[in-house]
Amino acid sequence: NRRVLLAARPHGEPKPSDFRIDEAPAPEPGEGEVLLKIRYLSLDPYMRGRMSDAKSYAAPVEVGGVMEGGTVAEVVASKSDRFKPGDIVLSHSGWQSYAVADAKALRKIDPTAAPISTAVGVLGMPGMTAYTGLLTIGQPKAGETVVVAAATGPVGSAVGQIARIKGARAVGIAGGADKCKALIEEFGFDVAVDHRSPTFAADLKAACPDGIDVYFENVGGAVFDAVFPLLNFFARIPVCGLIAQYNATGLPDGPDRTQLLLRDILTKRLTFRGFIVRDFADQAKDFFTDMSAWLRDGKVKYREDVVEGLDKAPEAFIGLLKGKNFGKLVIKVA
Ligand code: NDP
Repeated sequence: NRRVLLAARPHGEPKPSDFRIDEAPAPEPGEGEVLLKIRYLSLDPYMRGRMSDAKSYAAPVEVGGVMEGGTVAEVVASKSDRFKPGDIVLSHSGWQSYAVADAKALRKIDPTAAPISTAVGVLGMPGMTAYTGLLTIGQPKAGETVVVAAATGPVGSAVGQIARIKGARAVGIAGGADKCKALIEEFGFDVAVDHRSPTFAADLKAACPDGIDVYFENVGGAVFDAVFPLLNFFARIPVCGLIAQYNATGLPDGPDRTQLLLRDILTKRLTFRGFIVRDFADQAKDFFTDMSAWLRDGKVKYREDVVEGLDKAPEAFIGLLKGKNFGKLVIKVA
């Protein structure tokens, strides 16, 4: 069983030496368990948090432990009457090629309904993050302006497309010309703005002539600084992720603008609400029904960045935190 372990807790940006690849004997399923062969491993920004022992909403991976992660797997042996060999399931088996899992913790995937990798993408956790955060907290209305960054990623691309379905104007922020082109041509955003451009703040202002009603926060940092003065009265800000600071080792240089933020929250009656997708677990059925229909009707498009081979996972993950991925990053394990 090939596995990727956490070798050391990173300081700042993770490095290849923070990971270690090893071989262990294949695990044996016990009663009520199944043996899984991992087909796809999802790489997601939250994994940077699991590498750190700073206090968070979930426990860290232990040093020497298998890196955590969502997986799409094939049942190869079963000691449960719930699954038989050949079944495809969604599991949380981590960065390895085989795993044993409690059958009760698995969800069966229909491989005829959609490519199985979408179970960790548009039809899985990132898609549901976009759906629940945007609709429950953002509540976009027809004619409003919705802004999202990391907009070609699985969360951002779904946010923009769902905003359009609700009749809002979607402004996507992404890094570089190719990603901005994809926002318009593939995902149907109304406007794309490149956050790497030296004129980014002015470009964003020009892209939002009526201000911003919903800002779906994926990144923080300089993007938030450019968005903040453009927020309209009663704007809603689902706070989903802050990837610009996941590798930070300290606070940014001053001045401290917390008081300006508080003043605008008050005077503009802004709603900031942080969320973790599992807070909205009760919406899973609605999400799956709506998203499946939007995919079928071509109203939502998705893009995957598939990297072959488990050994490539560390490098691909390091790249994800720097915007090297283009679409939902998945490792094709087998
Ligand atoms: P993506 O596939 O979009 O990958 C991350 C992207 O972030 C990069 O490709 C890059 O895109 C962008 N990025 C990285 N650094 C910066 C920066 N300094 N400034 C601006 N953009 C940057 O990831 P996901 O769609 O999977 O996740 C998006 C966000 O949602 C993350 O913050 C993640 O942590 C969060 N999330 C939160 C969940 C929750 O439950 N709250 C659940 C799932 C995800 P580009 O090249 O365009 O800059």
